[in-house]
Amino acid sequence: MHEFSVAESILSFCGREREKQQAEEIRAVHLLIGVMSGIDIQLLREAFEALKHKRGFAKTELLTRQEEISVACGQCGAGSRLMEMKFVCPECGSENVRIAGGDKMLIEKIDLVRQKL
Ligand SMILES: [Zn+2]
Repeated sequence: MHEFSVAESILSFCGREREKQQAEEIRAVHLLIGVMSGIDIQLLREAFEALKHKRGFAKTELLTRQEEISVACGQCGAGSRLMEMKFVCPECGSENVRIAGGDKMLIEKIDLVRQKL
Protein backbone atom coordinates (compact mmCIF):
# COMPACT_ATOMS: atom_id res chain seq x y z
CA MET A 1 0.00 0.00 0.00
CA HIS A 2 2.01 2.89 -1.36
CA GLU A 3 -0.67 5.39 -0.31
CA PHE A 4 -0.31 4.43 3.36
CA SER A 5 3.36 5.37 3.39
CA VAL A 6 2.53 8.64 1.62
CA ALA A 7 -0.13 9.36 4.25
CA GLU A 8 2.40 8.51 6.98
CA SER A 9 4.93 10.94 5.59
CA ILE A 10 2.31 13.70 5.31
CA LEU A 11 1.39 13.13 8.95
CA SER A 12 4.98 13.20 10.12
CA PHE A 13 5.45 16.43 8.17
CA CYS A 14 2.39 17.78 10.04
CA GLY A 15 3.94 16.69 13.33
CA ARG A 16 7.18 18.51 12.61
CA GLU A 17 5.36 21.66 11.48
CA ARG A 18 3.09 21.65 14.51
CA GLU A 19 6.16 21.57 16.71
CA LYS A 20 8.16 24.10 14.73
CA GLN A 21 5.33 26.62 14.44
CA GLN A 22 4.05 25.85 17.94
CA ALA A 23 0.63 25.37 16.47
CA GLU A 24 -2.29 24.14 18.47
CA GLU A 25 -3.68 22.17 15.62
CA ILE A 26 -3.41 21.77 11.89
CA ARG A 27 -6.71 22.43 10.22
CA ALA A 28 -5.89 21.34 6.70
CA VAL A 29 -3.13 20.08 4.48
CA HIS A 30 -3.21 21.18 0.85
CA LEU A 31 -1.72 18.67 -1.51
CA LEU A 32 -0.92 19.07 -5.15
CA ILE A 33 -0.92 15.70 -6.85
CA GLY A 34 0.37 15.27 -10.36
CA VAL A 35 -1.76 13.14 -12.67
CA MET A 36 1.37 11.10 -13.34
CA SER A 37 2.57 10.82 -9.75
CA GLY A 38 1.07 7.34 -9.50
CA ILE A 39 -0.87 8.26 -6.39
CA ASP A 40 -4.49 7.18 -6.14
CA ILE A 41 -6.19 10.15 -4.50
CA GLN A 42 -9.11 8.09 -3.22
CA LEU A 43 -6.80 5.56 -1.58
CA LEU A 44 -4.65 8.31 -0.16
CA ARG A 45 -7.69 9.98 1.40
CA GLU A 46 -8.78 6.68 2.95
CA ALA A 47 -5.29 6.01 4.28
CA PHE A 48 -5.09 9.52 5.71
CA GLU A 49 -8.49 9.17 7.41
CA ALA A 50 -7.48 5.82 8.86
CA LEU A 51 -4.18 7.09 10.25
CA LYS A 52 -4.85 10.65 11.36
CA HIS A 53 -6.67 9.73 14.58
CA LYS A 54 -3.78 7.60 15.80
CA ARG A 55 -1.33 10.38 15.03
CA GLY A 56 -3.25 13.06 16.91
CA PHE A 57 -4.56 14.83 13.84
CA ALA A 58 -8.22 13.92 14.12
CA LYS A 59 -9.29 17.41 13.05
CA THR A 60 -6.93 17.73 10.13
CA GLU A 61 -8.50 17.72 6.71
CA LEU A 62 -6.71 16.58 3.60
CA LEU A 63 -7.41 18.80 0.61
CA THR A 64 -6.18 17.67 -2.75
CA ARG A 65 -5.78 19.37 -6.07
CA GLN A 66 -4.78 17.57 -9.22
CA GLU A 67 -2.03 18.92 -11.36
CA GLU A 68 -2.25 18.35 -15.09
CA ILE A 69 0.67 16.99 -17.02
CA SER A 70 2.66 19.78 -18.63
CA VAL A 71 4.42 18.97 -21.85
CA ALA A 72 6.70 20.90 -24.14
CA CYS A 73 6.55 20.01 -27.79
CA GLY A 74 9.86 19.32 -29.53
CA GLN A 75 8.26 19.90 -32.90
CA CYS A 76 6.40 23.23 -32.70
CA GLY A 77 7.61 24.41 -29.28
CA ALA A 78 4.13 24.73 -27.78
CA GLY A 79 3.68 24.23 -24.07
CA SER A 80 0.47 22.38 -23.22
CA ARG A 81 -1.36 20.79 -20.35
CA LEU A 82 -2.85 17.34 -20.57
CA MET A 83 -5.30 15.66 -18.22
CA GLU A 84 -4.55 12.16 -19.44
CA MET A 85 -1.46 10.21 -20.32
CA LYS A 86 -1.73 10.60 -24.03
CA PHE A 87 1.51 12.20 -25.07
CA VAL A 88 0.60 14.02 -28.24
CA CYS A 89 1.02 17.75 -28.76
CA PRO A 90 -2.50 19.27 -28.94
CA GLU A 91 -1.16 22.01 -31.23
CA CYS A 92 0.53 20.07 -34.01
CA GLY A 93 -0.15 16.40 -33.24
CA SER A 94 3.52 15.53 -32.82
CA GLU A 95 4.50 12.77 -30.40
CA ASN A 96 7.83 14.46 -29.82
CA VAL A 97 6.83 15.89 -26.45
CA ARG A 98 8.84 16.29 -23.28
CA ILE A 99 7.23 16.06 -19.85
CA ALA A 100 7.76 19.24 -17.85
CA GLY A 101 5.51 18.66 -14.85
CA GLY A 102 2.65 16.76 -13.29
CA ASP A 103 4.69 13.79 -12.17
CA LYS A 104 5.13 14.75 -8.54
CA MET A 105 3.24 15.24 -5.34
CA LEU A 106 3.88 18.13 -3.03
CA ILE A 107 2.46 19.76 0.05
CA GLU A 108 1.44 23.22 -1.11
CA LYS A 109 0.61 24.60 2.29
CA ILE A 110 -0.89 23.80 5.64
CA ASP A 111 -3.48 25.77 7.58
CA LEU A 112 -2.61 25.90 11.22
CA VAL A 113 -4.12 27.35 14.34
CA ARG A 114 -1.66 29.09 16.62
CA GLN A 115 -1.53 28.51 20.31
CA LYS A 116 -2.96 31.29 22.39
CA LEU A 117 -0.29 32.80 24.55
ZN1 LIG B 1 3.59 20.64 -31.26
